[in-house]
Amino acid sequence: MKIICIGRNYIAHANELNNPLPTEPIFFLKPETALIRAGLPFFYPDFSSDIHYEVEFVVRICKLGKHIQEKFAHKYYKEFSVGIDFTARDLQENCKQKGLPWEISKAFDSSAPVGEFINKSEFSDINDIDFSLEINGNTVQKGNTGMMIFSVNKIISYVSSFLTLKIGDLIFTGTPAGVGPIKRNDNLSAYLQNRKLLEVNVR
Ligand code: MG
Repeated sequence: MKIICIGRNYIAHANELNNPLPTEPIFFLKPETALIRAGLPFFYPDFSSDIHYEVEFVVRICKLGKHIQEKFAHKYYKEFSVGIDFTARDLQENCKQKGLPWEISKAFDSSAPVGEFINKSEFSDINDIDFSLEINGNTVQKGNTGMMIFSVNKIISYVSSFLTLKIGDLIFTGTPAGVGPIKRNDNLSAYLQNRKLLEVNVR
């Protein structure tokens, strides 16, 4: 499986990092080794001193597809969750300045913890789902899927015009404003609506 991550999909987040707004979805990949098994901690890596959290709404692909039309995209997912797109912001800034690929800052081991999945039938509208992140009990990020520049269906249509989506692939749909650094011993909890689906400790 692969993890497809969308960048700059919320206006306020693009602004906070001084990035221009995209006219088409921007995506990059993380490998399967970016997942963290439930209950295991995130070990702060030696190669960075500025790891940031980015809480994101996550969709799991349930059907093989390529060149999926936006109007049929809803048939390709049945479950939602929240995840954290851990980012080595110091390495990413360096890559951006040099015009290099981002992988060392985004695709490293354990960079994509994902919560428990919930069936989409439990939500009345995919374009109005709240999600949030707490660190040590304080809410640091709040988003709503209705604030995305590119909807889930648009993302699926766009991404599948370049690469085949397979069962089990995950799409991280971008982070709202409020990203910031983590430190050792932080406790991170991510919520969909008011349900806590993910908890990660930093070691
Ligand atoms: Mg992200």
